[in-house]
Amino acid sequence: MSNALPNSMQARDVEYLLHAVTNARRHEERGPIVIERGQGIRVFDDEGREYIEGMAGLWSVAVGFGEKRLADAAYRQLQKLPYYHSFSHKSNEPAILLAERLVGMTPERLRKVFFTNSGSEANDTAIKLVWYFNNARGHHAKKTFIARQGAYHGITIASGSLTGLPTNHRDFDLPIIPVKHVTCPHHYRYADPGESEEAFSTRLADELEATILEAGPETIAAFIGEPLMGAGGVMPPPEGYWQKIQAVCHKYDVLLVIDEVINGFGRLGTPFGCNYYGIDPDVLVLSKQITSSYQPLAAVLISDEIYQGIADNSAKIGTLGHGFTAGAHPVACAVANENLDIIEERGLVENARVVGEHLQRELRRRFADHPLVGEVRGVGLIAAIELVADKAAKRRFDPVGKLGLAVFDAAHEQGVIIRAIGDQIAFCPPLIITEKEVDEMLDRFARAFDQAT
Ligand code: PLP
Repeated sequence: MSNALPNSMQARDVEYLLHAVTNARRHEERGPIVIERGQGIRVFDDEGREYIEGMAGLWSVAVGFGEKRLADAAYRQLQKLPYYHSFSHKSNEPAILLAERLVGMTPERLRKVFFTNSGSEANDTAIKLVWYFNNARGHHAKKTFIARQGAYHGITIASGSLTGLPTNHRDFDLPIIPVKHVTCPHHYRYADPGESEEAFSTRLADELEATILEAGPETIAAFIGEPLMGAGGVMPPPEGYWQKIQAVCHKYDVLLVIDEVINGFGRLGTPFGCNYYGIDPDVLVLSKQITSSYQPLAAVLISDEIYQGIADNSAKIGTLGHGFTAGAHPVACAVANENLDIIEERGLVENARVVGEHLQRELRRRFADHPLVGEVRGVGLIAAIELVADKAAKRRFDPVGKLGLAVFDAAHEQGVIIRAIGDQIAFCPPLIITEKEVDEMLDRFARAFDQAT
């Protein structure tokens, strides 16, 4: 790094840290932003600069930074029982209470909870439990997952295989597990000219059916999707999409795995994306806002039917041979319980709905007519602006991501953290954000956008 003082945090970061999802050579040149502390919707770096965290960290810090109640909940639990696991009949109170609570708040058919440490592990777990269940009921060939292009389901070998983003596959030799990726349900990009949202949904459901029939329904285990796609570029599904997709899944005994790692716990202004879109999943995956990311935690919920198959098979084999050392961690679960109390007491789901409407309206009012903005989209407190080289033709920049990166850098200078997914600029602020703070975030973003274009 050219301008870092020797032995500074910046210099030592470049010397020792390999960063996630970062261009490593670019990082050597520009160095890190070392975030030191946070309060509410804001974070501060080690040079004292203040930023509005327009991404809630990684789509996850629902209650904002500096929430003392979560620190206290962790401290209390650390003193009482800092660690235990859920292997071999062991349990702990925070995990039991959290499991009960999750079953109570999610769609009716979901009856049992398995805890992991990350969304990726949760999706790996979902894959394994689906396979285990299908083997248990004698459907040994039912192994293939169907996911969507543009989907993000994690980064491990199995969940990364479900992810439908080329940069997460390239030179990592993914996908490895049997998976088929069908068309991304993004109307702006993938609908035919003049095709309505309903007609686009029908076409995608037909494509799903054709994919299942071509492979043979006896080989297709599950369909996995986020209600609203997040990390791939914030893409709400077209009208009628989930109803049509669910009907196809039911017809061919294809299980429906819904990944709510981003949507869950109020992001769309409803408790879950399943509530917003009327989805009835067989398996539900949760993480991120479950603890506001104050602790690593994720959960997989399964229907009673799947549970009964798994339970019978574990009795036959002698054990359910799956689990993580830090799964059902009491400190993480205690923090989750306190975090869910805060979300409830402060009405943050309703806040996401009301302030979300303001965010969506203001983004459209301020940016939709800009000649370099192809689409403004989103629901609740998650949104994206797609930048294009040619608005009428929806033509992308060449290379893709060039302007996105410039906007991302300018946003730092203007004191707002956004995410550039290629040339798609994402916003996903903490659920505590107010309308006034949304305006401040967008003022800063507007200055960054002007600076970069
Ligand atoms: N699923 C979805 C929808 C996600 O957005 C993410 C992370 O962004 C994951 C899974 C993976 O979660 P983790 O990064 O905790 O492994």
